[in-house]
Amino acid sequence: MAFKLTAADYVEYLEITAVEIEKSGDYVTALDAKTGDGDHWVNLNSGFQKVMSIKEELKTMELSSMLRKIGMTLMSGIGGSSGVLYGSGYIAASKALKDVDVLDIESLYTMLKAELDAIMDRGKAQPGWKTMIDSLYEGLESYKKAVDEGEDEKGVMEALKLGAQQGRDHTKEMEAVKGRASYQTNKGVGELDPGAVTMCIQLECLSDYVINKAL
Ligand code: ADP
Ligand code: MG
Repeated sequence: MAFKLTAADYVEYLEITAVEIEKSGDYVTALDAKTGDGDHWVNLNSGFQKVMSIKEELKTMELSSMLRKIGMTLMSGIGGSSGVLYGSGYIAASKALKDVDVLDIESLYTMLKAELDAIMDRGKAQPGWKTMIDSLYEGLESYKKAVDEGEDEKGVMEALKLGAQQGRDHTKEMEAVKGRASYQTNKGVGELDPGAVTMCIQLECLSDYVINKAL
């Protein structure tokens, strides 16, 4: 079967994700206290809450405008690097999906790739630098490989999730090049990057949502 997510479906996915982000608070904050300044979860969670406060409006919007509105909300509503990076990611996704009204296996990839490119550009960072980029990058590499190998859509979504988890796990041994962990003498080696952990939660929820609700 082929999935098609509308703007309202995307908001439903965000609602599920907001709950999972909320639940990850103690874990992510403890992690960020070791390698960062401890506020990553507070920043991201407050962004999700702000998006949730306008969810009824978002559900009625056309997909591209909805993504732009989410981006603007995150950009102005969250502190720290995450606000600017996620905001830029969603705004780039909105531009990439101009005139597209549903997310399918192809446009979902286009959307996530636009987010990845915008985050890398805005953060002036690359895969392998121990950031949120690593979960998204490895998730998308795995997505693309599964499509190229002719996997069905469930298989592609499972590949996205597995790749994101591997990207997250790989940050444990990486040395931070950008961001606060890079100021530490050991560059954060031995700890997962909190931004990679929360990016992975979002991609896991996306994969589960598509498999459970749309396939
Ligand atoms: P800040 O670094 O300003 O305290 P947050 O605490 O909100 O911002 O987010 C920290 C997370 O942001 C890090 O764990 C990392 O994943 C990500 N990050 C930080 N700097 C960059 C960057 N230049 N490019 C991409 N991601 C980054
Ligand atoms: Mg921080």
